[in-house]
Amino acid sequence: MEFDLISYIKSQSQTDDSVILGIGDDAAVIQPPPDQQMVVSTDTLILGQHFDELTTAQQLGHKALAVSLSDLAAMAAKPRWVTLNLTVPELDWKWLKEFVSGFMELANLHQLNLVGGDITQGPCTISTTVFGHAQPSKTLHRSHAQRGDLIAVTGQLGSAACALHNRNKGLDKFLYEPHPQLAVAQQIKDFAHACIDISDGLLADLGHICQASGLGAKIALEHIPVNPVVKALSPQWSEYALSGGDDYHLCFTFSASDLEKLPPHCSVIGQMGCGQTVRVFKNNQEIIHKNKGFVHFESVNT
Ligand code: ADP
Ligand code: MG
Repeated sequence: MEFDLISYIKSQSQTDDSVILGIGDDAAVIQPPPDQQMVVSTDTLILGQHFDELTTAQQLGHKALAVSLSDLAAMAAKPRWVTLNLTVPELDWKWLKEFVSGFMELANLHQLNLVGGDITQGPCTISTTVFGHAQPSKTLHRSHAQRGDLIAVTGQLGSAACALHNRNKGLDKFLYEPHPQLAVAQQIKDFAHACIDISDGLLADLGHICQASGLGAKIALEHIPVNPVVKALSPQWSEYALSGGDDYHLCFTFSASDLEKLPPHCSVIGQMGCGQTVRVFKNNQEIIHKNKGFVHFESVNT
């Protein structure tokens, strides 16, 4: 049965000639282009923790891959290969076919080669590892922000968090079917200094850039782009935009002298400066925010 599933997954996937040996042997053999660096990222989604029972199999297949691709977007790498580790309580073919369909639709959209994986029995858990490549020294690192850099984001924030609390209001696709910002990443890679994908919330993720770069950030709430539907639905919209996770947009920093290179749909929300933290201003008044974003482990003593 497990082998039928592997055959089915293989039949649904397409590979190009970078795959010397794909699904079916003990390991895959892949050929990266000459003179490129490999960029690798892995992510795990667990039922009850990262997704709920309302998530359809199709959406889960899409999202499991989207979250990993988003990490390669944040590095400005070109994703080429992926492995899929699937832990399911039983071989429910209807569910599995929908899952594979959601996964392969996004994989094919980005000409991604599925080169292997694993299938195990247990509580529903999906783990994906994406492999990409980039020109040497062309990847974007969290630690490379510079004092005085402008801070930008690639789209509207808070939609996924708002959808989580307001289902069936036209926002569900933002929560269940996020699209990794791979195209924008290629447009900014030649002038951006630091970049991160917003998976845990703007404050938390921009905070990582601050920490890694040894700088502080000031952002203006009124400049953060928020979907008007979110603003209309919830008085909590600023909380969603600042601290809601799962948007998978990019937050990046760049020199003010490159402002004219900013691609469409990107918005400048603030500036890097001294300090160590992210400070939020509303009409030039600093506001205090309690919720710093999604924390994976609570009360960890270090
Ligand atoms: P092994 O026992 O050597 O780990 P498996 O039976 O787990 O072999 O896998 C056989 C082949 O099928 C391998 O090439 C593996 O990468 C591939 N494979 C297994 N599960 C998946 C999956 N979920 N998606 C894609 N390929 C898979
Ligand atoms: Mg195996």
